[in-house]
Amino acid sequence: MKVTVLGFYGGYPTKGVGTSSYLIELNDFHLLLDVGSNSLLTLEKYVDPIDLDAVLLSHYHHDHIADLGVLQFTRLLKRDDKGNKPHLLPIYCHNEDVDNFNKMSFENVSQGIAFNEESELTIGPFKIEHMKTLHPVPCYAFRITEEKSNKTMVFTADSGYKEDFIGFAKDADLLIADSNFYEGMENHTVHMTAKECGRIANKANVKKLLLTHLPQTGDLNQLVEQAQDEAPSIPIELAHKEMIINV
Ligand code: ZN
Repeated sequence: MKVTVLGFYGGYPTKGVGTSSYLIELNDFHLLLDVGSNSLLTLEKYVDPIDLDAVLLSHYHHDHIADLGVLQFTRLLKRDDKGNKPHLLPIYCHNEDVDNFNKMSFENVSQGIAFNEESELTIGPFKIEHMKTLHPVPCYAFRITEEKSNKTMVFTADSGYKEDFIGFAKDADLLIADSNFYEGMENHTVHMTAKECGRIANKANVKKLLLTHLPQTGDLNQLVEQAQDEAPSIPIELAHKEMIINV
């Protein structure tokens, strides 16, 4: 699968870079994972929004869904070269917040499809496993596996440190982890530190760690150093805009 980082800041966009959003592609299948601020303009450089096949949402905080309404409007108004309307867009998300879940369905444009902790999900060529995270609102991490090759990426979404991430991310080819905090903020109930992300990566034996949901302040290279202290042998990188990772 090919992962393109469309936005990586936590909370709010800055300096032309948006918040959480990743395009995950395999062959001709285009899955959008979270739809943060500014994601639609960046997405358009790679895939026409009317050609998206599905959307997967971790939770309903603004920095993960800010561009969802304009994605729905794009698919309401835009036509392809032959004048055809796009298909009904499936948006996979939890329904533990009924008001937000109901907004995912928009007549003839998109359909909210709820998952819960027990359900098994397949989206196009991907098997999706999910795990509830530690966050002030219901939020899910995802383990996304190519059914044919077994290549796997894990996305922690937003979370404080949970020991369960070690099993959930076991042997993943790529771990994309919420590293919103610098060292010293461990055991927070909203986000992780880079050090905690490194610990998970090391214990889960992942092949690569990508630090994301980054803060707007401080020296981001320190995050890499702090994660690397916990995972000396694992390649670790900071997310950057339009970074492409082939998993
Ligand atoms: Zn959040």
